[in-house]
Amino acid sequence: MRSLFLIFGLLGCGATLPVDATDCEHGFAWQCEAEAIAWNQFMARTDTPPLVQWIGSVPCANRNGNMCIPGEDPAMGQYFLGSEYIQLARQDNTHTAAINLSHELLHVHLLRSTGDADGNHVRPEWKTMLPAIDKFLMASGI
Ligand SMILES: [Zn+2]
Repeated sequence: MRSLFLIFGLLGCGATLPVDATDCEHGFAWQCEAEAIAWNQFMARTDTPPLVQWIGSVPCANRNGNMCIPGEDPAMGQYFLGSEYIQLARQDNTHTAAINLSHELLHVHLLRSTGDADGNHVRPEWKTMLPAIDKFLMASGI
């Protein structure tokens, strides 16, 4: 709960759920399958995954910077916001978009499981679970 407050606190009044944050049914054609792989299969979650807001570009430095990939601002352009929805920059490459999605889903999974989204990526899941998800996504043609 403390982490949630901190994240929302950093974002101030912009922390309301955006109207264009949608579930996978209203996202990209591959999105529900990717979420089933990452969220349900690998993270073993049965709760509802966060909504996704696909946007053009995310200037990480002006947002919640520690949720961006260091040194890749704004190229990867994604960041994580709270537990109810995530924002991702649209990517031309589906696999790139899918691995960005699984990355942010892991933040939400950790936040909901431990109360800490692990913004600095120090937990072992980043080196074990996430590469396994990405490999599975690739093998699935996503
Ligand atoms: Zn991250």
